[in-house]
Amino acid sequence: MADEEAEGAERMEVSTELSQAPQRQASWWDQQVDFYTAFLHHLAQLVPEIYFAEMDPDLEKQEENVQLSIFTPLEWYLFGEDPDICLEKLKQSAAFQLCGKVFKSGETTYSCRDCAIDPTCVLCMDCFQNSVHKNHRYKMHTSTGGGFCDCGDTEAWKTGPFCINHEPGRADTTKENSHCPLNEEVIAQARKIFPSVIKYIVEMTIWEEEKQLPTELQIREKNERYYCVLFNDEHHSYDHVIYSLQRALDCELAEAQLHTTAIDKEGRRAVKAGTYAACQEAKEDIKSHSENVSQHPLHVEVLYSEVMAHQKFALRLGSWINKIMSYSSDFRQIFCQACLTEEPDSENPCLISRLMLWDAKLYKGARKILHELIFSSFFMEMEYKKLFAMEFVKYYKQLQKEYISDDHDRSISITALSVQMFTVPTLARHLIEEQNVISVITETLLEVLPEYLDRNNKFNFQGYSQDKLGRVYAVICDLKYILISKPTVWTERLRIQFLEGFRSFLKILTCMQGMEEIRRQVGQHIEVDPDWEAAIAIQMQLKNILLMFQEWCACDEELLLVAYKECHKAVIRCSTSFITGIKTVVQLCGHTLETKSYRVSEDLVSIHLPLSRTLAGLHVRLSRLGAVSRLHEFIPFDFQVEVLVEYPLRCLVLVAQVVAEMWRRNGLSLISQVFYYQDVKCREEMYDKDIIMLQIGASLMDPNKFLLLILQRYELADAFTKTIPTKDQDLIKQYNTLIEEMLQVLIYVVGERYIPGVGNVTKEEVTMREIVHLLCIEPMPHSAIARNLPENENNETGLENVINKVATFKKPGVSGHGVYELKDESLKDFNMYFYHYSKTQHSKAEHMQKKRRKQENKDEALPPPPPPEFCPAFSKVVNLLSCDVMMYILRTILERAVDTDSNFWTEGMLQMAFHILALGLLEEKQQLQKAPEEEVTFDFYHKASRLGSSATNAQNIQMLLEKLKGIPQLEGQKDMITWILQMFDIVKRLREKSCLIVATTSGLDSIKNDEITHDKEKAERKRKAEAARLHRQKIMAQMSALQKNFIETHKLMYDTTSEMTGKEDSIMEEESTPAISDYCKIALGPKRGPTITEKEVLTCILCQEEQEVKIENNAMVLAACVQKSTALTQHRGKPVELSGETLDPLFMDPDLAYGTYTGSCGHVMHAVCWQKYFEAVQLSSQQRVHVDLFDLESGEYLCPLCKSLCNTVIPIIPLQPQKINSENAEALAQLLTLARWIQTVLARISGYKMKHTKGENPVIPILFDQGMGDSTLEFHSILSFGVQSLIKYSNSIKEMVILFATTVYRIGLKVPPDEMDPRVPMMTWSTCAFTIQAIENLLGDEGKPLFGALQNRQHNGLKALMQFAVAQRVTCSQVLIQKHLVRLLSVVLPNLRSEDTPCLLSIDLFHVLVGAVLAFPALYWDDTVNLQPSSISSAYNQLYLFHLITMAHILQILLTIDTGLSLSQVEEDSEEARCASSFFEEISQYFSSCAGHDAPGWYLWAALKNGIIPYLRCAALFFHYVLGVTPPEELFTNSAEGEYNALCSYLSLPTNLFLLFQEYWDTVKPLLHRWCTDPALLNCLQQKSSLVRYPRKRNSLIELPDDYSCLLNQASHFRCPRSADDERKHPVLCLFCGAILCSQNICCQEVVNGEEIGACIFHALHCGAGVCIFLKIRECRVVLVEGKARGCAYPAPYLDEYGETDPGLKRGNPLHLSRERYRKLHLVWQQHCIIEEIARSQETNQMLFGFNWQLL
Ligand SMILES: [Zn+2]
Ligand SMILES: [Zn+2]
Ligand SMILES: [Zn+2]
Ligand SMILES: [Zn+2]
Ligand SMILES: [Zn+2]
Ligand SMILES: [Zn+2]
Ligand SMILES: [Zn+2]
Repeated sequence: MADEEAEGAERMEVSTELSQAPQRQASWWDQQVDFYTAFLHHLAQLVPEIYFAEMDPDLEKQEENVQLSIFTPLEWYLFGEDPDICLEKLKQSAAFQLCGKVFKSGETTYSCRDCAIDPTCVLCMDCFQNSVHKNHRYKMHTSTGGGFCDCGDTEAWKTGPFCINHEPGRADTTKENSHCPLNEEVIAQARKIFPSVIKYIVEMTIWEEEKQLPTELQIREKNERYYCVLFNDEHHSYDHVIYSLQRALDCELAEAQLHTTAIDKEGRRAVKAGTYAACQEAKEDIKSHSENVSQHPLHVEVLYSEVMAHQKFALRLGSWINKIMSYSSDFRQIFCQACLTEEPDSENPCLISRLMLWDAKLYKGARKILHELIFSSFFMEMEYKKLFAMEFVKYYKQLQKEYISDDHDRSISITALSVQMFTVPTLARHLIEEQNVISVITETLLEVLPEYLDRNNKFNFQGYSQDKLGRVYAVICDLKYILISKPTVWTERLRIQFLEGFRSFLKILTCMQGMEEIRRQVGQHIEVDPDWEAAIAIQMQLKNILLMFQEWCACDEELLLVAYKECHKAVIRCSTSFITGIKTVVQLCGHTLETKSYRVSEDLVSIHLPLSRTLAGLHVRLSRLGAVSRLHEFIPFDFQVEVLVEYPLRCLVLVAQVVAEMWRRNGLSLISQVFYYQDVKCREEMYDKDIIMLQIGASLMDPNKFLLLILQRYELADAFTKTIPTKDQDLIKQYNTLIEEMLQVLIYVVGERYIPGVGNVTKEEVTMREIVHLLCIEPMPHSAIARNLPENENNETGLENVINKVATFKKPGVSGHGVYELKDESLKDFNMYFYHYSKTQHSKAEHMQKKRRKQENKDEALPPPPPPEFCPAFSKVVNLLSCDVMMYILRTILERAVDTDSNFWTEGMLQMAFHILALGLLEEKQQLQKAPEEEVTFDFYHKASRLGSSATNAQNIQMLLEKLKGIPQLEGQKDMITWILQMFDIVKRLREKSCLIVATTSGLDSIKNDEITHDKEKAERKRKAEAARLHRQKIMAQMSALQKNFIETHKLMYDTTSEMTGKEDSIMEEESTPAISDYCKIALGPKRGPTITEKEVLTCILCQEEQEVKIENNAMVLAACVQKSTALTQHRGKPVELSGETLDPLFMDPDLAYGTYTGSCGHVMHAVCWQKYFEAVQLSSQQRVHVDLFDLESGEYLCPLCKSLCNTVIPIIPLQPQKINSENAEALAQLLTLARWIQTVLARISGYKMKHTKGENPVIPILFDQGMGDSTLEFHSILSFGVQSLIKYSNSIKEMVILFATTVYRIGLKVPPDEMDPRVPMMTWSTCAFTIQAIENLLGDEGKPLFGALQNRQHNGLKALMQFAVAQRVTCSQVLIQKHLVRLLSVVLPNLRSEDTPCLLSIDLFHVLVGAVLAFPALYWDDTVNLQPSSISSAYNQLYLFHLITMAHILQILLTIDTGLSLSQVEEDSEEARCASSFFEEISQYFSSCAGHDAPGWYLWAALKNGIIPYLRCAALFFHYVLGVTPPEELFTNSAEGEYNALCSYLSLPTNLFLLFQEYWDTVKPLLHRWCTDPALLNCLQQKSSLVRYPRKRNSLIELPDDYSCLLNQASHFRCPRSADDERKHPVLCLFCGAILCSQNICCQEVVNGEEIGACIFHALHCGAGVCIFLKIRECRVVLVEGKARGCAYPAPYLDEYGETDPGLKRGNPLHLSRERYRKLHLVWQQHCIIEEIARSQETNQMLFGFNWQLL
């Protein structure tokens, strides 16, 4: 390497010299006759120099050199003047009409559903935002790369083809100068230069010699430098390549990674430089290391260094000309002309075609640049686009074949450009007319598919390769693109060429007709399930193509008839085996059918019949055009309808037999195929067409013969003639199922007329009917309806056009989605035997509709709705209903049902028979209403009422129905039978009455009349229903009374269960506040009210036993979760110590950046029960039952009841009742002033100090600023104000206290557990303070009152937490607590200072308050007796501590006051305002300039009041849960003004807070002095930016834009901070701080503690202390993460207009922010429920475990 660098440096000098004269170079070229030779000479000299250091290039230098020595001279030569000036001029005038922006993978594209010609027409984000389509119905999608923006293409859009920026004639650009104003000379120069440039690019790109250059470039002495070059492929994994390189080259991991990343991006890279032999050796090494049994070796080549250099430069030159072309249309045209010129005396195609044909051999990076070149030249000029398209089609077959054998993704293949040309309507038409492109594509298919042909010349995809077949789909797709816009004008040539294409297409269908035949397996089960996916996938691909072919054919009658003839011929040709088969005869009730003997259950059958189905489609279109009558002109000989019907019929029989479980042994593959056959993705060109084919058969055949054929094929002829032995239950069941299936198909044949051409309906009516039937099952969201409707070639379902006619939209709540509900008036269209219902849908819908009718007190009959009329071509189908065989079938079924011994029928079968009867009667009624009686030949009524001749036929259908009505088992069918009998009556009357009367009575009316005659029955029913309702009501009342009682007696249990169902009970337990009105509601000082305690009996959720909570009893515990939190931070993203090993947590920073939150789900257990449970969980995890669900090592488990994630338990300790004798207290007040109290405390502390100095305990340095004052006060005087003996907790409770305290310590500081650590008590106080602050903040955020709105779990958690904290002191060394206390007190006691006392502005005083109050009793400890203060002493201690700390906080607030707030003005000269002013004067003497210096008094007071409230609220919560004193009423309600006064009263504060200072002035003055003169404080004040002000700001999730497009827009501008490439990125937005991160990408991974973690997880560590909420922008998904390994998805707060989220942007509808849902997400965060959500979702959705959250 060393010598290479030296050499390189020397060479560089040469080029710098050269570069100084680009102008000179240009003029030299000017003098040359042959520019090409001169240009090559120049390049041959320079290129190898510049691109010398391939292995380790200085990219900037390279670029600079190329610019100076090649491009600038070229530009000079081109423009003849300074190119910079010239290009600037061009830029000014250049306005394109086409945007042409090429999409990178992952970019968002927009399509307008109203205006785009087809869904492939898309806009880039910029164009979209500036277009009219922004306000239309648009779709957003993520590009897979390779497409380009269609803005400006008038053929792509019905309206609004231009955005504002690309509109012609906009601003100063008129039509003329939108063409570039190039002068003749420049154009002449371009004509000279461009061909040479292109030639060089092409020659070098397709250069194949590894060892040498083309002769023109060989002007230098040949060196011996080669590269070993590795190419990208799609088979080897990243890791495999890295591994192979490391082994073969013996290099470091990092280097191998670097190579691999570059190879993946660029497609090739030199991995070694050296002599030919050395490189050859490396090549072999890499190959052998990368090869194994299942994989080919990697593709490696050895390349001569200069070849590599020239190839590299050729691409750079490509980018250069790309840039030049963007300036002018003339340039583009000259370029295109040059590309299309064929060399005069050469066999070679033109240059662009040579490039195209070389595409599959090129590597990724080269392809990209070449495709871009095509985009920016040919595709920007319509005329040349056409010429390019023609070249493309010329070589289409070859290109596709190469693509199919290539291994690169489609997106970087030249074949992917087809969509850009084929979807342009004029181009498509041109290509069909001139180049017969349809035939070209189909023939390509015919050439690539034979690989899959079997010996019958049918396709068979067994053992196919998915990847390869996937590539064939691309060709099929091209067919779709060509057909996507139907021509409006047909020329003769177009007609001829299209028909030729159609014929060619029929050849493909011929290979599919009857492919993959199967035979029923009897005896043994098949061994391997055959591959079926490929054939079905092709069906899916073809569905819309088939439909489009049919639509094109239907453009005119002639065309359609010719196509029909061709298709008919093809079908008959495929049916020869059937035509020549053996015959058999079927007979029934005097009718005979001679047909071929064939049994689906024995012979071969196939479900792939695209030819038959195409014919059915063409037939329907023929019927729509009314041209069926001309059919005989084209098919003069035998139409052979039986042959046409045969194959579709077999297919339907196959389905029936599968349902009857006759094909069990053929395995799952058949079940899947049958599923897809009827599924919405395929059914239009499979199942639906088979039904139509039967309808064609029924319309053209004799009805009796048709039915005999059906019976024969269903293998049911015997079942209706003979009596089957009744022993074999399975066989009976099988027969019954087959009969049901057959009846259903008959119902469809007669009743399904909702296809334009079959019945007189419009497309909209068809869609409407589909929707009605979906909604009859249940109300559905938009997406579910859309999923169940077939999509057309433009991916549209037509849903939006009609949905509002049949359904109403119901908006979603905070969760769930919006749904459509069917309108009542559409219910009448419900058809129980709707042919697109699956079995389950059918029964669900039937159930729903019956239920509904019952609720409305209607009868339960669900007769078919009157069907629309058949088109004339199909009108004869109805004759099926009244033919003899049908009557025979119906009668047989009814007779069997009447016969009590027969089990040869089912209720379902009967229902179908009723349905057919109903259809027949409806048909007759409709006909009678339309025409005079004598003209109506359809005679259902008479046939059904006629008696049969034989004995078995002795009863007519009506009589049978009457009998059935009496059978008790058929109670459910009674209403339907009644309905049918009524219909018989109606038809009879219509037949009897004269036509005149009939005509005036509409059908509906007559039914109504009948209903009136049944009024009585109805009234009776109503009465019964009413009685039943009353009865129900009574029972309900009794039940609810019982329930109430139960709740009262089992209050706690009720609470827990209601919690479990997720309801947030927000009422405090009433028991804790009984008749409190008399008590004094003051928590502090001599007037303190009594503790309200009562017996607490709790039930263990594990053993269900009750126990009273007492300090001497065994402990009961609350399930709890301790977590670090940044929910309150004023300083988001503040760097966190990853381990708290050295942290001193006694003082909390005022920014509350990191706190320790303790939450509980409120569920109670015995400590013993919990321990047993936890051990059991541990055991089961060893057996890997709960893998990964939670981290047992850190004590995690799921609450046994509610399954929230917990990691510890809080012991439940009862409140110690305390009561103060108020007289004593008053007396003491005279004695114990603040000053005296302070002196007593100081005396005690100094006493300890003296003792400790003498004794063995280490000393903490304490500084007493001044004299000790009253010397009469000595060590013991503190005890004289009242003491009591220490509370004795049971050992079990102590144990739990220690356990919980250790957990808080461990998690809060992220350290290993150590119960003896001196910081354990600090963490106890800290979590108490922080948890209270978090809850107070949340209550404020939600606008709830302080008390009375707490959730039960919060209330129970706080209660347990505070009492635990009181008890925790007892489990520690008292000396330790004293030490901590002294440090805390040194903040607020005058005279007392420890060296490390922080300044007033760098601590949170609420934390100080909590710590000091909880630690204070330690001052009463003595070696000999362990005492604690009496109630009355405590009252004073707490009062004075609180007052002192409050004063300190007041100072904090005033010092940091923000003078810019808009506070509503209060009284100008109130007492408070005056006090504020004078106080401020007092303190401002310490500061030269102070923030609130010139603020008026009222403002200071208002700001103080505003700032102190959160602190007061926290203090009230704290003292309430420590002391149990009932707070005043006002704190239970929501009133801001009342709240302040109530807080002051509860906390024994004067409402004018300044009075505190006045009262204690002498004591406070020195303190003020000390605080204010602290240099650290002054320092703090100066750093304004990090100053915390009060009230602290409330955190919320970042503002999100209303329109999701805006976020996508932001994401599109996102660049990964670590890598400069344009590869696809996954931008993820942190909802805490708004940072956008590069997720799931190696470039942004970080290493923490030796583990690699993704950018998001790393960010979360700092931003949310490991817990975070992210929005994956490209996917519109929210993810919650916690720690390294856990996370879950959460519904995004963006909804479409149908109230649905769109994860993955699959549907692409416009999305808007739902404020409610975003708010809910905010609350999940602020309630510290993120961890809980994650645990819950993991519990319910174990599927997601596969995701590696660590790398997010
Ligand atoms: Zn655009
Ligand atoms: Zn545009
Ligand atoms: Zn539009
Ligand atoms: Zn228990
Ligand atoms: Zn629970
Ligand atoms: Zn963040
Ligand atoms: Zn990155």
